[in-house]
Amino acid sequence: MPPVADRVAAAKLWLISEQTAQLPYLAQALYALVTVESDAVARVAADRWWRLYVNPAWVMAVDAASLARAITHQLWHLLLEHADRAARAGVDAASRHAWHAAADLAIADTLASSGASVLSGELAERVAALRAGRPQLDPGKSAEEYWLVLRKTLPPPETSDPREDGGEERQEGSAADGQERGWELPEAADVGGLTDFEAGAVRQRVAIDYRALRGEHGDQPGEFGRWLRRMTEPSLPWPTLLAQAVRRGVGWTSGRTHTTYTRPNRRAASTPGVVMPGWRRPQPQVACVVDTSGSVDDVLLARAMSEVDGALRQLGAAVDVLACDAAVHAVRRVRKASEATLVGGGGTDLRVALAAVERLRPRPTLTVVFTDGWTPWPETPPAGSAVVVALLLRRDEVTLEVPSWATVVRCELDA
Ligand SMILES: [Zn+2]
Repeated sequence: MPPVADRVAAAKLWLISEQTAQLPYLAQALYALVTVESDAVARVAADRWWRLYVNPAWVMAVDAASLARAITHQLWHLLLEHADRAARAGVDAASRHAWHAAADLAIADTLASSGASVLSGELAERVAALRAGRPQLDPGKSAEEYWLVLRKTLPPPETSDPREDGGEERQEGSAADGQERGWELPEAADVGGLTDFEAGAVRQRVAIDYRALRGEHGDQPGEFGRWLRRMTEPSLPWPTLLAQAVRRGVGWTSGRTHTTYTRPNRRAASTPGVVMPGWRRPQPQVACVVDTSGSVDDVLLARAMSEVDGALRQLGAAVDVLACDAAVHAVRRVRKASEATLVGGGGTDLRVALAAVERLRPRPTLTVVFTDGWTPWPETPPAGSAVVVALLLRRDEVTLEVPSWATVVRCELDA
């Protein structure tokens, strides 16, 4: 691995590992970031598509902890949706310095409320200076609330020499305020990056992982508590949640977030000063397991399957469909889940079907199970595969427990 990429990887590891910062819930977000080396940024800055621009000289000069702090700072701009929120708040070039200060206050609060204040570093000093003599900026508010105060009271920074680190233009990217900088790559640049939809899924994953780890319920005030509640209590209808879970399952495992430097990027030569990683995106393999036992509601099954079909078609996934009840009756490779010949009837044992999934080649990276849940489950998921369970229920129906290694979407038939 080139030395800069190596340093970035070490800093990410520093953040999630037990010996150091202990923030494993950030893992999915950290690995979704696409690193781009660029002399145009002062240290580390991000654009709104989750590209992390790193200044190679700075990266090589600092230790893992300092780099980790800088990465986490940018990551929280992305997680807290500061780009979209700035646009909604009406932030422009003249007021963006005040928005930065407000968003950084919110990040400092977030680090404190999430037990990661060890990462505050120099941010803590800046925040203390902002809060000195401004009691309206006491912790517990949102970036928008801070901004309303700061845009009236914070003088704009003095025009700085662009060669110095102080140049605001080089310190933050569109991740912080939604405004594209001259040094940012276009949205469609083939280094990759996350779409708004994928970013939403990453945010949700981080929030869910945080709650799983810390067991807090987001009743703390301020930016972080509100964010946790918004991310983990979605009021979306189940078809949307199911499609989301499928896209996310494919996204995690298909290499979407992996950057490889093994092949030179053909655009690199035309972008001086920017070293771009190569990009590799294999076709995702997905297995669908359909519980065809008599207790599954046909109408609900059809609706759930068409949602999953739609999501998989968009992703260009290759799909294996296994129709099963007590034993696997049919294993057919089809393009659409709804093309599966539905056979069977009788009691269900999904352990048999999931064992069959494990024998498929190429191995599926995502397994989607359609079932009413009245089945025993294996101890572990099929090797190397994420599992999404579409739990087909009549309204408010009680069901057996689905193992925690699966993402469960409750699909309820309307009354
Ligand atoms: Zn910032």
